[in-house]
Amino acid sequence: MRPWQRLRNDYELGILTSFGACAVVGILPFAVYRFATGNTPAAILDAGIVACICFAVSQAWRNADRRRTRLFMAIVNTVACLASATVLGPPGLFWMYPALLGNFLLLRPNAAVLASAFALAFLAVQGRAYDSLSQLAMFLVSATVSGLIAFVFASRTERQRAELEKLVTLDALTGMPNRRAMESELQLAVEQRRRGGVEVGLAMLDLDHFKLVNDLHGHEAGDDVLVEFAQIMRQAIRKADRCFRFGGEEFVLLMPATGPSGLQAIDASLRERVAAELRCRGECVTVSIGAAALRPGEDWQAWLARADAALYRAKAEGRNRTVIDAGPVAIEPAPAASGHA
Ligand code: GH3
Ligand code: MG
Ligand code: MG
Repeated sequence: MRPWQRLRNDYELGILTSFGACAVVGILPFAVYRFATGNTPAAILDAGIVACICFAVSQAWRNADRRRTRLFMAIVNTVACLASATVLGPPGLFWMYPALLGNFLLLRPNAAVLASAFALAFLAVQGRAYDSLSQLAMFLVSATVSGLIAFVFASRTERQRAELEKLVTLDALTGMPNRRAMESELQLAVEQRRRGGVEVGLAMLDLDHFKLVNDLHGHEAGDDVLVEFAQIMRQAIRKADRCFRFGGEEFVLLMPATGPSGLQAIDASLRERVAAELRCRGECVTVSIGAAALRPGEDWQAWLARADAALYRAKAEGRNRTVIDAGPVAIEPAPAASGHA
């Protein structure tokens, strides 16, 4: 995906990149000016802040898990402002205002309140950033008011964003997370595994002859089957597993702590259960499953493609069966055949 597309689609990346760009554009000229005018300690401080922010933004572009990056940026943001108020004295206090706002962009509202309260308390106690107590009082009051306004704004935005995210990541029919949610969770799973996390498995599930279900019983009956299937799937999986509606009558199951051998368990826990329980007007509806464990160094697209190829084999071999990729043995189908085969 092109960089500008990523910026448009990825809310967090957009926030972190804009914050980084604003900080660099605001601070870099000061670093250059201070080097030129011989104020080396302040210039080094400015250059260090710019370098840390560039590093954090580059991490945000590389990793989908942004929690550590956001925390790192907020720490740099807060510490840098406290340092500049210490090095520059009262003029450095002006940086506290963008720093306060920045914390509300980078952290959850409650965490941003804590970071801001810490920064203000530090400045009040440290005593080098103001000339008189009345100056300190004015600064504390104006900074607190700015922080409160930012808190109200950030809390409202956060709530609206959570609701919007729910709307765009949940499938309306089954209530399951959709393909969009799946892509980011697969990306996260790949990154966690790369950082030494536990093995992780993936399955693609596709209802058998579903077009026939619609043709014979109508689209509404087909919808009911999809809802019922989603319900069975939720009941059959473990707590840590995550299921998604990939699209149409295709679903994806993400299984943490599951290697190639563990994958076979879904045949009994899910496929057999669907064959035994899923009905449309009394006729049996079955599911075919293709599964694959994540390989070292693999990206999520290749991983999903292997599960999809295994599903294709399950279909080609007669449906109502589970095929595990890279495992030479395909699990035999249960005796119950699809009512629509
Ligand atoms: P196969 O066993 O090879 O998977 O055959 P199939 O008939 O299940 O597969 P095919 O891709 O030919 O048809 C999928 C059908 O799923 C066609 C489409 O009308 C139906 N479908 C997709 N989304 C929905 C939905 O939301 N509701 C209903 N009722 N049907 C849907
Ligand atoms: Mg299909
Ligand atoms: Mg199908």
